[in-house]
Amino acid sequence: MNVSMNISLENTQNAFAYKTTADLKKARFLFSAIQSPLIASIATKLTPILMKSGFPINGILRSTVFNQFVGGETLEESARICKQLGAYKVQVILDYGVEAKEGEENFDNVTDQIINAIEFAATQQNIPFVSVKITGIASMFLLEKLNEAPRLRSGIHDSESEDASWVSVRERMYAICEMASEKGIGVLIDAEETWIQDPIDRLAVELMTVYNKSKAVVYNTYQLYRNDRLSFLQLSHKLALEGKFILGAKLVRGAYMEKERARAEKLGYPSPIHDTKDATDKDYDEAAAYCLKNAATISLILASHNEQSNLLIAKEMEHKGMVANHEHVHFSQLYGMSDHITFNMSTAGYNVSKYLPFGPLQDVIPYLMRRAEENTSVNGQTSRELTLIRTELARRKAKK
Ligand SMILES: Cc1cc2nc3c(=O)[nH]c(=O)nc-3n(C[C@H](O)[C@H](O)[C@H](O)COP(=O)(O)OP(=O)(O)OC[C@H]3O[C@@H](n4cnc5c(N)ncnc54)[C@H](O)[C@@H]3O)c2cc1C
Repeated sequence: MNVSMNISLENTQNAFAYKTTADLKKARFLFSAIQSPLIASIATKLTPILMKSGFPINGILRSTVFNQFVGGETLEESARICKQLGAYKVQVILDYGVEAKEGEENFDNVTDQIINAIEFAATQQNIPFVSVKITGIASMFLLEKLNEAPRLRSGIHDSESEDASWVSVRERMYAICEMASEKGIGVLIDAEETWIQDPIDRLAVELMTVYNKSKAVVYNTYQLYRNDRLSFLQLSHKLALEGKFILGAKLVRGAYMEKERARAEKLGYPSPIHDTKDATDKDYDEAAAYCLKNAATISLILASHNEQSNLLIAKEMEHKGMVANHEHVHFSQLYGMSDHITFNMSTAGYNVSKYLPFGPLQDVIPYLMRRAEENTSVNGQTSRELTLIRTELARRKAKK
């Protein structure tokens, strides 16, 4: 299929075809509430405390943020949303959204859940990927320790640590990737805070050398708000060419900006984050163009809600004469956000997916709090969501 560059992201009828009017009204209420920094700040601070104290807020959470941003508490519950998205040719990245629960038993449980998700994905038409957060299967303390250990810098595996718990983390990842490779499902490794990222990068590269020989099974995530990531992407690509494997590259801007800057200031080291949004945008678009230019050896997942970045790459694909559904170019947005990008791009024939977390309500709270914070701190994102929802509600009302 060839692209026609007449994609418009404005079509709200396409964007929200899968939502009932009642769903849209709920979303309007939710985004209006989290748009207020005061309400968002109180809610993000109070929610974990109230949950711990046993205060009955589960019902409220479930019918608001949980329903907006999460597929369900179990795989079975999420299956309904996966089917619904599939009906619009939207694909799914399944994410067992439990984060930072310490303890080997919890890590093994998360591993089992991810393997179940892979087996489930293999039975569905529209679930090509699962995602993995290494902090779901490894201790923060261990990752910090490995991050600090003397080593060859980013991306090159060395044998510095034969630490037993790191051996278990590697075994978990090998079990996940083995199953994924057998079932034809991709594994996206999320990027996290800079002070734990190095061992994650090294493990990701190691796994790619094993599993990405003939196709991309493993993907690492590159946060382009970091001022060293464009060159790290290029270094990773060099390693891929030398090691004769396909580089799986998921590009994001990065979710921990405030936390990163605050830590750097507190501990007195230079911030790893670009000084301006423009600098982040420039590196992001350059990284995406680099991946596209090398699409024979890099499989790209453009994970962004930024309209310009999505359109730029779609346009560049057209310019290069690439088919819209090229197997090495994939677009993705989080479930509950930027439906206008997802659904209008899928209608135009691109590979597009929703990143869909699932998991017990109390365990996905960190993910939900990040979404609430992001929608408050990212200038304009919430007002854009609200404008689109209001436009669609007005369109439906006028049609009656
Ligand atoms: C499918 C998917 C998967 C994701 N996976 C991950 C992941 O693994 N790890 C992760 O960290 N994040 C992840 N994210 C979140 C992502 O990093 C961004 O936080 C989010 O998508 C917003 O960026 P944007 O490109 O969508 O939009 P935009 O609104 O264009 O960009 C907002 C982002 O720009 C950056 N920024 C904003 N202001 C400034 C400033 N003053 N100076 C420098 N930079 C600035 C920040 O990164 C901010 O989040 C994922 C997002 C998606 C859609």
